[in-house]
Amino acid sequence: MSRKLVYTGKAKDIYTTSEDENLIISVYKDQATMLNGARKETIEGKGILNNQISSLIFEKLNVAGVATHFIKQLSETEQLNKKVEIIPLEVVLRNYTAGSFSKRFAVEEGLKLETPILEFYYKNDDLNDPFINDEHVKFLDIATDEEIAYIKNETRRINGFLSDWFSQIGLKLIDYKLEFGKDKDGNIILADEFSPDNCRLWDAEGRHMDKDVFRRDLGSLTDVYQVVLEKLQGLEK
Ligand code: UDP
Repeated sequence: MSRKLVYTGKAKDIYTTSEDENLIISVYKDQATMLNGARKETIEGKGILNNQISSLIFEKLNVAGVATHFIKQLSETEQLNKKVEIIPLEVVLRNYTAGSFSKRFAVEEGLKLETPILEFYYKNDDLNDPFINDEHVKFLDIATDEEIAYIKNETRRINGFLSDWFSQIGLKLIDYKLEFGKDKDGNIILADEFSPDNCRLWDAEGRHMDKDVFRRDLGSLTDVYQVVLEKLQGLEK
């Protein structure tokens, strides 16, 4: 199967395949970045761990009836996905306060949000991914009212599954970022990845089991990601 590199991102490279123009191969890399790529490091083994974690979560979401781009894991670092046109929105869901939310509103981290809070950021590196609301989404022609409603409902439904799975393995799902895309028929489906690179997970002692280990220099990132993977592998099928 011959392939062609079509996109190189911070954490993944994307290839088209000669076999089917509606499929892509995502290759997870060992690179970790923060501050929009201003700090960049190679962390050996991260790509393998994130591919395994994201494949496991997307597989479970597919089984739960969520429409996603995930087809199957191909190798340690590769997965086969449906090709989508990414909707330029970072959809952030917060179950507990942390990170930029805590900074913006000057509140401590780890407070439970009785109603989980959903936020949109405009995915645009040149603008530094600004915080936007539904009306900006419409102004920027990113999505219609119906599409916005679908993305929000689907994100909250996904949050129910994810929060439950992580609670079963003793981890608190603090917050995370999702991305959606449109498939060849124009259907909106969940795309990108779900890994400790784009979520916050705290264990029972409040230890960070996610990319904050890198952002805040708290130790070995891959040791922590390995623990998350092993816990997820122990979830009932
Ligand atoms: N996030 C992400 N990519 C981004 C920004 C945020 O995956 O470009 C994730 C981040 O890992 C966290 C959640 O979205 O789980 C909320 O991030 P926040 O807005 O608190 O920003 P941060 O503190 O990470 O800068």
